[in-house]
Amino acid sequence: MVDANRPLPQPTELTQPYWSAANENRLVMQCCDACGRWQFYPRPFCLHCESDQIRWKDVSGRGTIYTFTINYRAPNPFMKARLPYAVAVVDLDEGVRMVANIVNADPTDLGIGKRVRVAFERVTEDIALPQFELER
Ligand SMILES: [Zn+2]
Repeated sequence: MVDANRPLPQPTELTQPYWSAANENRLVMQCCDACGRWQFYPRPFCLHCESDQIRWKDVSGRGTIYTFTINYRAPNPFMKARLPYAVAVVDLDEGVRMVANIVNADPTDLGIGKRVRVAFERVTEDIALPQFELER
């Protein structure tokens, strides 16, 4: 089932909550109990106020394309089979920014400012990748 050429995430103690939630089709981000702000990627402290009182919370999974690129050359054999594919920087409505593929879309339909929502791509029994698709 799993393509041996596919690079997979390697969860760490810090990132395991993110991957566990994704495996349940939930997108979570760290939120600071001290200042109430969100952050991504995961860190052991709040990057805004340096508090270590941070918690994982569900986010809406909705956002806007900040920028994107269409790849016509692949970095590995697995992605070569997916060409062309879109890599986007997405601004989540909670105010954090993340990088993901835009899936289930013709690359010519993408645009800066377009609305997207998270779409989980099942990869293994333990890993589902948060990707995004255009809101319809
Ligand atoms: Zn904080």
